[in-house]
Amino acid sequence: MINTNKKIQKLIKQNIVDVVYKSSTSISQETYVVGGAVRDCLMDRNRKSSDLDFVTLGCEMTLANEIKNKINKNLKISRFKKFGTAHINFNEINIEIVKARKESYNSSSRNPDVEPGNLLDDLKRRDFTINAIAVSLNDKNFGELIDPFDGLNDLENKVIKTPTSPEITLSDDPLRILRGVRFSSELNFEIDDSLLNAMIKNCDRVKIISKERIVDEINKILLTDKPSNGFKLLDKIGLIQILIPSLNKLKGIEEIEGITHKDNFYHTLQVVDNISRVTNKIWLRWAALLHDIGKPNSKRFDKKIGWTFHGHEYIGSKMIFEIFKKLKMPLNSSLKYVQKVVMLSSRPIILSENIVTDSAIRRLIYDAGEEIEDLLMLCEADITTKNKKRREKYLNNFKIVRQKIKIVEERDKIRNFQPPISGKFIMSIFNLKPSREVGILKEKIKDAILDGKIENEYKSAFELLLKEGTKMGLKPKINEEKV
Ligand code: ATP
Ligand code: MG
Repeated sequence: MINTNKKIQKLIKQNIVDVVYKSSTSISQETYVVGGAVRDCLMDRNRKSSDLDFVTLGCEMTLANEIKNKINKNLKISRFKKFGTAHINFNEINIEIVKARKESYNSSSRNPDVEPGNLLDDLKRRDFTINAIAVSLNDKNFGELIDPFDGLNDLENKVIKTPTSPEITLSDDPLRILRGVRFSSELNFEIDDSLLNAMIKNCDRVKIISKERIVDEINKILLTDKPSNGFKLLDKIGLIQILIPSLNKLKGIEEIEGITHKDNFYHTLQVVDNISRVTNKIWLRWAALLHDIGKPNSKRFDKKIGWTFHGHEYIGSKMIFEIFKKLKMPLNSSLKYVQKVVMLSSRPIILSENIVTDSAIRRLIYDAGEEIEDLLMLCEADITTKNKKRREKYLNNFKIVRQKIKIVEERDKIRNFQPPISGKFIMSIFNLKPSREVGILKEKIKDAILDGKIENEYKSAFELLLKEGTKMGLKPKINEEKV
């Protein structure tokens, strides 16, 4: 049995909880801490999220105003009257107060009709037993744990269950399916069999949830320590096919003439786990999740060399826009970043397999720019072979690539490279309007620098410009000596 006393003391001694206690006492309104803060404190878990949830038997706004007056009169309260909730943000802590309620649902929406209720009604409408434990902030039983659905027991047994019928709970609000998977992945808990069956049965109902809420949960799953657990569960429930069908297409192993390729779905999940050990960057984790997405469309069998996936990174990076759009994800620099990292994801591997020329390294640094380190992290995470020798060999090759990058970058400063001669300058020298010629000349200078044929500086670039321009039949306005 968990010794709850000490843990609860720690929770109720927190400053904000103390302010809420004093506020509810001064307006004589019964109030309890609920939700994640109670669950996590009972598990001795450091809270990742900084929200504190309270339930009050009375007006949520009266309590919110009292809290505001005690902390800082200038704080803003956001109220959702329909759901009886009030939010205050203070020092990056999100205080959420909800008026105890009963809920009833109809089948077309996940937003319930609500009416006031007592504490038990309120705990009963919550998603999981481990989230339906309350701690009293009232003098009559201050610090007492109220746990009508045996949430404590489920915390001990590391299992996720619903307070009432799983079927009804999930059908009422299918977001709970994704929340359940997220909690399972975050806390490393099993999902109770009957709940899992209800998840499978109701998976189609996620279609009534807004894409933003779905992505919010996918992101939270991606940010857990071992995201593969969450994604395997999503797959078991049938949600990968519904949410990211192109990821589902990575599943399976094909065999021709006794030659197989790896299962790219499980490989991808392993890559996501690997990258998660070295970075918390959500978009790099997305890049890992989508790095092989182009494989099914580029798969060929060649009698001489077996399975090939030529150009899969190019095809994959082109598919990412549609995936983001369908999920209503931001179509901004984050999308561009994921596309870029996926697009370049095979380049360092090619370098690691061949004799590395400085020119190839310079091109990689130029193309990857600021993303070079993230790209290398992804490439290292991409090594999933079980063969220890091969693994060491690959890792060592990347070490060599890294060293080369360091040497070349220190010497040639390619990362934020701007060609020493601009398009405008080219136009003025040859008296040109913006045209194809200008682009060709610019590209020639860039290529010559990246290939190490000329120095990355003005004089050499200018000489080349005159030479190439003359070859193209262009006449410079001035001669070299005058410049
Ligand atoms: P965390 O804040 O760590 O993500 P949490 O359990 O506090 O986890 P919140 O989203 O903050 O999650 O919600 C607070 C509480 O409100 C939950 O613990 C749960 O009791 C209840 N809750 C939230 N969303 C739902 C839902 N869709 N259906 C039923 N109850 C919910
Ligand atoms: Mg919370």
